[in-house]
Amino acid sequence: MTAPLRWALIGASDIASTRLIPAIKEVGDTITAVQSGSPGWAAAYAATHAIDFWTTSVDELLSRADVDAVYVSSTNEKHHHQVVAAAAAGRHVLAEKPLALTVADARAMVEACERAGVMMATNHHLPASPTHRAMKALVADGAVGQVRAIHINHSVGLPQHLQGWRVDDPIGGGVAYDVFVHDMAAVRALIGGQALRAYAGERTGALVAQSLMTVVNWTDDVIVQTHDSYDNYHLPTWLEILGTQGAIRSTGCMTGDPIGEVQLFKDHQVTDIEVGPRDDLYVTTVRAFDRAVHEGATPLVTGWDGVRSLAAVEAVQASLSSGCSAAVQLVG
Ligand code: NDP
Repeated sequence: MTAPLRWALIGASDIASTRLIPAIKEVGDTITAVQSGSPGWAAAYAATHAIDFWTTSVDELLSRADVDAVYVSSTNEKHHHQVVAAAAAGRHVLAEKPLALTVADARAMVEACERAGVMMATNHHLPASPTHRAMKALVADGAVGQVRAIHINHSVGLPQHLQGWRVDDPIGGGVAYDVFVHDMAAVRALIGGQALRAYAGERTGALVAQSLMTVVNWTDDVIVQTHDSYDNYHLPTWLEILGTQGAIRSTGCMTGDPIGEVQLFKDHQVTDIEVGPRDDLYVTTVRAFDRAVHEGATPLVTGWDGVRSLAAVEAVQASLSSGCSAAVQLVG
């Protein structure tokens, strides 16, 4: 029996409140400390979640003896220096996506963790989704033959309370860093490989991109089409995989909830696929992280996977600026 991990939170965020704190508790780990830049918010957050210690200082948090691992869920521009500091202090890291605002910074984060000999994982939730795992198993079993194309509709309606930096911050906000980045991690988890080239178009008129369509060339001659937006309050999300021997459609699957359905299409016949246990995505992620720390297993989404998904975002940004397609920096 291994000792439960003692976690500290860097960033007093909504996602920690709603998903990660419950997940950490569910797997039997503990939360010993929280850091937030604003003292009033840090104190209130610690009280709400019954966390014994709060601070505004990352260094003070990292100097505590009762911290084995940190979960970094501050706003995107802070992830880089906070993760590098955590690695230097010898703490394992589960970091939110996008890992950073540039691929160079994200690489530096992963390399800092490698040098320090600590585990690092990226909190892309979709690879933990029951529907995504069911699709991955179908692809691995050869149910669709060779994958040729993937369509993703990841357009969501952004609730009022999550608007803030997502729509106001021209540097770290917008759907590319926030939503499209998850698509890239999801595709890698489903079929392996990585994005090679991206072409992107967006609705303009807002401060940051709130509706983005892309065409991405993937390894093994797969082509991926995505739509990510904040302004769809009506249509469910979906993901379709088109192969030489069949196709898969999952509806309602681009979400943090363990919902959605999966169907297999072959020769104009449709089969509903049994998705399996509807485990919470974030519990699955934390459980995999614990196994990685304690048993040396590979986390569900590695640090390098987080660099790969961000590399595709950078290519999308280059494409939006130039109006042409852009190469994706290859990772590993
Ligand atoms: P929030 O806006 O809830 O929190 C981000 C930061 O804003 C906090 O860390 C805190 O800063 C500050 N903050 C928030 N509320 C207050 C307040 N009332 N008073 C003072 N400061 C406040 O962000 P999200 O939870 O939506 O996102 C956080 C990170 O998680 C992002 O990187 C995002 O991309 C990622 N994310 C990942 C998801 C996933 O499923 N993997 C889903 C949603 C988000 P401080 O750093 O000072 O504590």
